[in-house]
Amino acid sequence: MSARGRVGEAAAEVGEATARGSSTRSPAGRDRCRTQETRSEKPVRGSASVNSQCPTPRTARLTKNPAWPCHAARSHHRRRYGRLPGSVRGVDFAFDARTEELRGRLLEFMDSHVLPAETEHVAGAGGGDHWARPPVVKRLQAEARSRGLWNLFLPHPEHGAGLTNLQYAPLAEIMGRSPALAPEVFNCAAPDTGNMEVLAQFGTSEQQETWLRPLLDAEIRSTFCMTEPDVASSDARNIRMTIRRDGQEYVLDGRKWWSTGAMAPECKILIVMGVTDPDADPYRRQSMVLVPRDTPGVRVVRPLTVFGYDDAPHGGHAEVAFDAVRVPASNVLLGEGEGFRIAQERLGPGRIHHCMRSIGIAERALELMCRRAVSRVAFGKAVAQQGVVQDWIAEARIRIEQARLLVLKAAWLMDTVGNKGARAEIAAIKVAAPEVASWVLDRAIQVHGGAGVSGDFPLAQLAASMRTLHLADGPDEVHKATIARRELAGYVPR
Ligand SMILES: Cc1cc2nc3c(=O)[nH]c(=O)nc-3n(C[C@H](O)[C@H](O)[C@H](O)COP(=O)(O)OP(=O)(O)OC[C@H]3O[C@@H](n4cnc5c(N)ncnc54)[C@H](O)[C@@H]3O)c2cc1C
Repeated sequence: MSARGRVGEAAAEVGEATARGSSTRSPAGRDRCRTQETRSEKPVRGSASVNSQCPTPRTARLTKNPAWPCHAARSHHRRRYGRLPGSVRGVDFAFDARTEELRGRLLEFMDSHVLPAETEHVAGAGGGDHWARPPVVKRLQAEARSRGLWNLFLPHPEHGAGLTNLQYAPLAEIMGRSPALAPEVFNCAAPDTGNMEVLAQFGTSEQQETWLRPLLDAEIRSTFCMTEPDVASSDARNIRMTIRRDGQEYVLDGRKWWSTGAMAPECKILIVMGVTDPDADPYRRQSMVLVPRDTPGVRVVRPLTVFGYDDAPHGGHAEVAFDAVRVPASNVLLGEGEGFRIAQERLGPGRIHHCMRSIGIAERALELMCRRAVSRVAFGKAVAQQGVVQDWIAEARIRIEQARLLVLKAAWLMDTVGNKGARAEIAAIKVAAPEVASWVLDRAIQVHGGAGVSGDFPLAQLAASMRTLHLADGPDEVHKATIARRELAGYVPR
């Protein structure tokens, strides 16, 4: 069955649940529905036909009525109130027993092992090789793995922990408190996470054995090469790299940049996106192929920096040239023309992990802000006694709680109606989570004075990394366009 079909079914199930549960909807909710409807003056798409044909009062249309297609009721409500009422019905963000148990162990490990090792991590490069995985990471990885805190991100139970997005979200938030170290310690760091998901979902058993297995064991690292210096890569249709079939091989020519992780000597495999058929439909032109790092013609041109940080412990970000690079035709992922689809899938779960971690980063910044504010005295009183600082602290708490709920809602929708059904919520948190974390970090830096922008506290580097999230997962503007399209859909004349 196609992914489309599955999502459609899941959405229909939610619609059914709404209908079945209609008797428990609060009377207040029904009144609100009726009142707003009466007030509504703007004609909306399809509303005339709904009014003229629907035999039931609008408030009753939210119940399943065999005489009236339930999609009409759903689209009516979606136009008025955004998402389906059914898709937020029954939502319960309480942690289940497994999540609670993992949270407890993760928090304990963070306090006893990860946070105390941050200084060593920052100072202790890769034991000679600036770009290599620092020894402290390897040591902590072994310990985390022995405790079963390993590959928690991977929803496929045969490869990873098999957690839902809603179960993983609070765990990723905890890792976010130490974003440069913790995700890698638990083998939950990008870009390996997204690449492992791609291999788990689309790789052949041979590809999985060769590349997924060592990635799951953290024996190697990987890179995802999509963005190119010469074209606006937020629009993947612009990608120019060519992947030409030649007998039983593909030949790659082009240039990529921002290939995160490619500077690390442990990086052994590159997932590369390029054009296999320039004449195909714009969304079927691209394919993805697996390119072993040591293939002749692959050349790391230079490392890039982010506001001056080279992100070395993370494997850096590289510009990579591909000159007549030959790989076996069997290295294609899923098949020719599937590159865009894989990229879309990869942008789902793998990328909301950043949002989950952003909440943890914001919490860490708020904690540091509060500690500093109560311990620093200026003009005869603690900085925390300044009204403006209290305002920042209160605002920070409010914004973090809002963003966390939005992240949990997106995770829950991904679990219940699928990535496609949760597209607008995913887009929303990709904008909101870094925005909130950046806001809190900025105030925390201000409260710290000069220390805030120094290397003595993690705030400056965290602020730099949060700023990049407004771009790295696709620019904010592109995510907002997705949300605006959904909002406008009900108003655009057919
Ligand atoms: C730290 C970091 C890590 C990264 N890691 C990777 C990686 O591992 N692999 C990889 O392939 N790439 C990676 N990237 C690249 C990242 O995905 C791209 O930078 C991003 O998709 C934007 O593409 P671009 O830089 O070509 O910007 P462009 O496409 O040139 O866009 C420039 C600007 O145009 C505007 N714009 C674009 N589209 C719209 C629109 N629809 N509406 C309004 N305004 C718009 C936005 O303001 C946007 O910022 C990374 C980037 C960073 C900063």
